[in-house]
Amino acid sequence: MNKPCLFCEIVAGRIDADIVYQDDQVTAFHDIHPQAPVHVLVIPNRHIPTMLDLEPEDAPLIGHMHVTAKHLAHELGIADNGYRSIFNCGTAAGQTVWHIHLHIMGGRSMGWPPWPGN
Ligand code: AMP
Ligand code: ZN
Repeated sequence: MNKPCLFCEIVAGRIDADIVYQDDQVTAFHDIHPQAPVHVLVIPNRHIPTMLDLEPEDAPLIGHMHVTAKHLAHELGIADNGYRSIFNCGTAAGQTVWHIHLHIMGGRSMGWPPWPGN
C-alpha cells in the first residue's frame, strides 16, 4: 500500500500539527523546521501533489490560500514589516512534500534574489 500523504494526514487529524487555522478548503499550521521567526504553511485540504497538477477550476482555491495567508500575517504579527509567500514546485525548487503548500515567512529580513543556496 502507498504511504499516506503526510499533509493529508494532518488535515484529517491523524498526525499532530500546530494548527493555526482550518476551514472547509484549507488548513494552516506552523512549519516543523521554521526558517524565520514566523513560518506557517497553508495547504489545501484536498490532495494536489504539485502546482503542475492545478486545473483552471482550482484558481479560487489558490486565491483563498493567499487571502488566508493575509489574515494569518495580521494575526501572527508579520503584516506590517512584510512577509514572503512561496510555493516550491518540483525537486529543483526544493519541494519535499508532495501536497502543495504555501510557505508564509516573516519576522526577519530576507534577501532577494533567493540565491545562492536560498
Ligand atoms: P517544501 O520543501 O517546500 O516541500 O516544504 C515542506 C515543508 O514542510 C518544510 O519546510 C518542512 O519543514 C515542513 N514539514 C515537514 N513535515 C512537517 C510536519 N510534520 N509538520 C509541519 N511541517 C512539516
Ligand atoms: Zn496529500
